[in-house]
Amino acid sequence: MLLKFLKLEYNIFSWEIYKIHSMNEIINNTNKLIDPFGRTVDYLRVSVTDRCDFRCTYCMAEDMQFLPKKDILSLEELEDICRVFMRLGTRKIRLTGGEPLVRKGIMQVINNLGKEVGNSLDELTITTNGSQLETKAEELFNAGVRRINVSLDHLDPDKFREITRWGDLEKVKRGLKKAQEVGLKIKINTVAISNFNQYHLPEILAWCGEENFDMTIIEIMPMGDIGGDTRYGQYLPLSEVRKDLQKKFTLTDLPERTSGPARYVSVKETKNKLGFITPLTHNFCESCNRVRLTCTGVLYMCLGQDDNADLKTVLRNNGLNALEDAIKKAIERKPKGHDFEISRQSPNISVNRHMSLTGG
Ligand code: SAM
Ligand code: SF4
Repeated sequence: MLLKFLKLEYNIFSWEIYKIHSMNEIINNTNKLIDPFGRTVDYLRVSVTDRCDFRCTYCMAEDMQFLPKKDILSLEELEDICRVFMRLGTRKIRLTGGEPLVRKGIMQVINNLGKEVGNSLDELTITTNGSQLETKAEELFNAGVRRINVSLDHLDPDKFREITRWGDLEKVKRGLKKAQEVGLKIKINTVAISNFNQYHLPEILAWCGEENFDMTIIEIMPMGDIGGDTRYGQYLPLSEVRKDLQKKFTLTDLPERTSGPARYVSVKETKNKLGFITPLTHNFCESCNRVRLTCTGVLYMCLGQDDNADLKTVLRNNGLNALEDAIKKAIERKPKGHDFEISRQSPNISVNRHMSLTGG
């Protein structure tokens, strides 16, 4: 009890000192994160856990070894790092994972950060596999979340189970229904997988139209060891997907840009929006505004490069001011772009870490 009280006092004290330190820069608006290529970095993606209740075959091996608890940021540390980013101009935070909604106590962080929406933050969003939405959707909405991305790669329950290994499609669908009822805007993320959902994508797009969901189709990225499969076998270029979809749907390019790797089209027949995320065939790195924090507190300035900054060690050893300096220094090293490759010669891994560690 006493220890808990002392820790709380210490946290408040260090935040007060830190606020005084950074007030001048905030007043003079010199505290933005701008990288060497002139890109303003104002979007943080945070993987809050490497654990997940699914084992999607393109994301994880079946017998994944998860990280020990001591290596993972505590919820307080997670929030501290987010808050320092907010002081440095971050306007949007996306919580992801692993499965963010299976992390114990995460709703408290979401509630706390949600209070910043409309003030320090424009948006707090979540990427989820949907397994926990039935019970958590309302709390998410009440916390200030307005949009969520839900991953779904097939509408056939057996195929859904095959790709997620452990997932229950009906439970996810109930979660989606609940999320819609409470007012969350939903975007479905679908990874295009050769010979798996390749010919099923039109059906998912049509279903999204019926349900009033937007949809984004994602190219498989070569991240982390996934066991026996090779990604060359799973990889499906979205240029082919688009050609196929155009046989059934009228797709019109939208001028909309999100500073991310997605390009959007409107779909005349379904009246919804469709995004294509093409890190391999086109990378769009020139407008990248984001960085990624792993659940171990390591900052990756680019999803597809290995250079990183260990923010957890800085925070644990040196406190908030040092953390701010470490973030600024890391942004000075944000690379121009990535060079993912999937080919017969390099069929599997471009970067060694899994997407669940870095956060998709
Ligand atoms: N568990 C949550 C989910 O599935 O939405 C959040 C984390 S998951 C890593 C985030 C997104 O990354 C999902 O849409 C997933 O399909 C995608 N993803 C995972 N591994 C990928 C890979 N190797 N290439 C492309 N997308 C991947
Ligand atoms: Fe879990 Fe998401 Fe990876 Fe699937 S894609 S295994 S749901 S983290």
